[in-house]
Amino acid sequence: MSLERTVEVTTTSLQTALAGEMEKITGCIHCGLCLPVCPTYNQGGNENDSPRGRIYLMRAVAEGRLEIDSPSLSRHIDLCLGCRACETACPAGVRYGHLLEAARESISEHGGSGPSTPADLQKSMLGLALRLVFPHPRRLAGSLAIFRLLRDSFLTRLALGTGLLRRVSASADFALSLLASTAPLPWRRGQSRVEVDPQRVELPPAAERHQVAVFTGCVMEGLFTDTNRATSRVLTVNGCQPVDIPTQVCCGALHAHSGDLTTARQLARRNIDAFEQFLASSPAGRPSPTIVINAAGCGALLKEYGELLEDDPAYAERAVKFSNSVLDVTEVLARGEIRRGGELDERVTFDAPCHLFHAQRVQSAPQKVLASIPGVEYRPLDGMQDCCGGAGIYNLSEPEMSGAILSEKIERVKATGARILATANPGCQMQLSAGVRLYGADCQVVHLVDLLDESYRRAGFYTDPD
Ligand code: SF4
Ligand code: SF4
Repeated sequence: MSLERTVEVTTTSLQTALAGEMEKITGCIHCGLCLPVCPTYNQGGNENDSPRGRIYLMRAVAEGRLEIDSPSLSRHIDLCLGCRACETACPAGVRYGHLLEAARESISEHGGSGPSTPADLQKSMLGLALRLVFPHPRRLAGSLAIFRLLRDSFLTRLALGTGLLRRVSASADFALSLLASTAPLPWRRGQSRVEVDPQRVELPPAAERHQVAVFTGCVMEGLFTDTNRATSRVLTVNGCQPVDIPTQVCCGALHAHSGDLTTARQLARRNIDAFEQFLASSPAGRPSPTIVINAAGCGALLKEYGELLEDDPAYAERAVKFSNSVLDVTEVLARGEIRRGGELDERVTFDAPCHLFHAQRVQSAPQKVLASIPGVEYRPLDGMQDCCGGAGIYNLSEPEMSGAILSEKIERVKATGARILATANPGCQMQLSAGVRLYGADCQVVHLVDLLDESYRRAGFYTDPD
């Protein structure tokens, strides 16, 4: 493909994306209300690293005033976390997340002149892994099995425990710390195979239960398997009937956020095929079947499959039906009376994942889940809706900005005095755990579902089939 053709394609895709949003874009009154909530603007004070500045750059490309291969454009777009706090703050309803994905797609379609710095090379390698591994379940399972072996090895304990690796390479130490944070929770050793005991928990008749299918995800299933099992258990205790969907694949969120919308769309189509039969069953007298997600980043994209595939005549309608059937696990639980479990007796704080709070606008359900757990002393976290700096693979591709944001977050966590920091997204859980270790906070980072599950275990709701 010639350079002229490439430029034409990329410019056109960005123009098309903007044209679809033009009503909202022209509604941008340049008010700047998004600036104070933007973590990257707050760090450096550069207008080009604010939502308003980035939108201005995108419009300049679309209107032919700036080249798509301008290094300053890609730098300011790269530095965006995609946290979407700007969408929550925007009075004009600008869909910034969609514009960001379109801009990233255009920049990566253009290709540039290839990696020129170690950071570019790392970004290319991560992009390659996303394309060559994540869409293929066997390759992904094999890779995650290797990561689990590394995580649980003596070498990892030695490298992190002695601080040896940190002296050699701070970024390698941080990456290993992210991996180590996926280890099973200390209180769950020997407990991961427990099941709900129907003798101890009064369940509705099977024919009356709300049918749910847990979207198991790729990183969640490979590295946070226990949390997926806990999700099924807490749903069962609360009157749901979990159904397995073995043909589901990675949701494509990491691809979409990095601008690889082609792979994201391919994965979305496969998931729509996988869940279609489950969604078609509409048992009389009970709620419609629901796809339940416990990873906020995945949930945000699953709820937007309708928009992702709106131009695909074979999938557009089916994608809307799929997205309308997706709920975060906290939403499902908070819709009814949450069954009370055993006492936890812990000081707990909660950090809201951006893709739950801002992208999905699920803002009160996690608090309701926490409030249902006996013995939880809730300690509010200042700026709980602010990004932790994880943002998919941002913590690896932009370590400096990510680290600055993370250190501020951990200082606020320390100020709560909580011993447990709950969240609801694997990427945030890993980032916060690594931050707790790096900045010396005395608390355990857990998924909110794991807390509820532990409360149910203490209430004696579970039995071990072994
Ligand atoms: S808050 Fe919305 S309308 Fe105001 S400057 Fe930001 S994007 Fe534009
Ligand atoms: S997505 Fe987050 S980092 Fe990016 S412009 Fe919006 S507020 Fe700033």
